[in-house]
Amino acid sequence: MTDNPMFDPKAFRLSNLESELCAKVRDFGQSTLAPRAEKWDRDAVFPTENYRDMATNGLLGICIPKESGGLGADYRAYCLAAAEMGRYCGATALTWNMHVSSTLWTGSLLDTLEMSPQAKEAQDKRSTVHRKRILEDGAVYSQSFSEGGAAAAGAVAWGTLVKRTDKGWLLNGKKIFASLAGNANYYGVLCTDVTDGEPSRRNTLYLAVPADAAGVSVVGDWDPLGMRGTVSRTLLFDNVIVDPVNELMPQGSYFEMAVGWPHMFLTLAPTYMGICQGAYDFTVKYLRGEYPGTPPVKRRMYPTKQIAVAEMLIKLEQTKALWFQVISEACYKPSKEQLLRAYAAQYTVMENANDICRLAIRTCGGQSMLKSLPLERMYRDSRCGALMLPWTSELCMDRIGHGALYEAGEKDD
Ligand SMILES: Cc1cc2nc3c(=O)[nH]c(=O)nc-3n(C[C@H](O)[C@H](O)[C@H](O)COP(=O)(O)OP(=O)(O)OC[C@H]3O[C@@H](n4cnc5c(N)ncnc54)[C@H](O)[C@@H]3O)c2cc1C
Repeated sequence: MTDNPMFDPKAFRLSNLESELCAKVRDFGQSTLAPRAEKWDRDAVFPTENYRDMATNGLLGICIPKESGGLGADYRAYCLAAAEMGRYCGATALTWNMHVSSTLWTGSLLDTLEMSPQAKEAQDKRSTVHRKRILEDGAVYSQSFSEGGAAAAGAVAWGTLVKRTDKGWLLNGKKIFASLAGNANYYGVLCTDVTDGEPSRRNTLYLAVPADAAGVSVVGDWDPLGMRGTVSRTLLFDNVIVDPVNELMPQGSYFEMAVGWPHMFLTLAPTYMGICQGAYDFTVKYLRGEYPGTPPVKRRMYPTKQIAVAEMLIKLEQTKALWFQVISEACYKPSKEQLLRAYAAQYTVMENANDICRLAIRTCGGQSMLKSLPLERMYRDSRCGALMLPWTSELCMDRIGHGALYEAGEKDD
């Protein structure tokens, strides 16, 4: 039987495009991603087969405008579709997000910033190069910004540095936890341009570094608790020359976006929104004795099970409602209330994903923990959400607490 939409198009007043994209991803997720998900998790290998399929079914180009040959999703349409994917395979949804950001950030989000006609023309040229690679060659992009210091939290400039030279950008540095390492064709790298002086966050450059460029290497092993199929190993850049054609954004735009479009950092949440739904779906089917591959034993008649499911549904609906509001109001230069609500939504999704999985295992019982079933994978995958910089659960709490008590520029004397 086909799963119901996470967000009923009529009840949530989705656009036709949103509804179609969600249905496309849900069908693909249920029929293709879910049966394969255990394999990537068990061996901690990248879901290459899924990506081949996504090159064919157009999902690699979900945020590329229709007039350029893509599926034309904007911020909200992508978030809704990505949640449907997270429901079936967390690792594929999370890595897809890294790939999609290379077109979403540089496309419909960047379009909302003010730009001179010349800058706009230059950006269109850049985008054409990247979009063609994705749509015609099936190229996959990663999004590597974590470095192990304070840069990924937005506190200091990136320690990965570039200098302009006659041959192109000269890149040196290291990125940790780079999902798709060894599997992407281009590493989307945030780095600091130090050609003209000291490192500054304002001089961030967003480059697509070809994976096969001289001086690029992937090091370290990958054997984590959850999200094992993301293969988030370490990337080293040793005197790598990057052709300026690989710039993803105009200089200075990344900093302007990071400040003016904070919801851009909320796109890790859809994966975990999907896990919330996946764990709930599993529990209902399991307690009804209908989960494929398990004995047809009903457990739904026990009042404690009913209470647990009620608790899960309440958490799920609370999470969906807040998250839906926040992805619906995402915009350039949000108000303080909108920003605090976005932090609250990120925190809620990431914490509740793990909590709903915890409740699911407790109420379904010992057999539901077996590796032949998806629930224990969801439980482990869900644990990773709260750790994703720059909006970890801790940092969201810090920012909500401070933001609620202080107006801009206020100090305690
Ligand atoms: C499965 C998975 C996939 C990932 N994929 C990617 C990817 O594709 N690309 C990418 O760039 N990164 C990726 N990351 C990395 C992720 O975004 C974080 O950078 C990483 O989890 C940080 O780990 P750490 O131990 O270095 O944390 P630390 O930097 O040591 O931080 C530990 C905790 O301290 C807090 N903290 C950190 N900095 C500050 C600060 N300045 N002020 C206050 N509190 C702070 C945060 O709550 C944080 O969780 C991935 C992580 C995981 C788990």
